[in-house]
Amino acid sequence: MSIQACSSNWKSNGFQIRGLMGSTPSAPAMKLNEYQEKAISTAIYPRTYAVGTYPVLGLCGEAGEVAEKVKKVIRDKNGIYDPEDVDNIKKELGDVLWYVANIAWDFNIPLEKVAEMNIEKLQSRKDRGKLRGSGDDR
Ligand SMILES: [Mg+2]
Repeated sequence: MSIQACSSNWKSNGFQIRGLMGSTPSAPAMKLNEYQEKAISTAIYPRTYAVGTYPVLGLCGEAGEVAEKVKKVIRDKNGIYDPEDVDNIKKELGDVLWYVANIAWDFNIPLEKVAEMNIEKLQSRKDRGKLRGSGDDR
C-alpha cells in the first residue's frame, strides 16, 4: 500500500479550510516500507529501555502537538483553518508518522503490514455493519 493510495479517497469532510476547499492534497508516491526505511535512517534514540518505549513516548508527544494546532485554530480562529494551519498540521502528522514507523520497526513490523491489517480490519467491520460500537475485536 502506498501513501498515494491512502490519500486517493481524500475528500472534504465539511469543515472549513480557508483557501483549500475543492482542492486535494498532493500525494507523494512513496511506498510505506520505503518511508519506514528512510525514517529509521534518521532515528537516533536510546534503546536501553523496553522495546518501543522511546518512540511510543515520542508518538504521544507528537499526537499532542497535532491536537495543540487544532485547539489553537478553535480558540483563535473560530475553527477556520487557513493554508498555514493545514501546513503546520501536516508537519506534525509527519512527526506522528515518523514515530509510528519507528515503533513498528522496533517490533520488526513492516509499516505496509500495519496499514494493510488496519484496512482489512476496518473493511471487515464495514462489511459486517460493525463500524460503530466499541471493542478491539468486533
Ligand atoms: Mg512535532
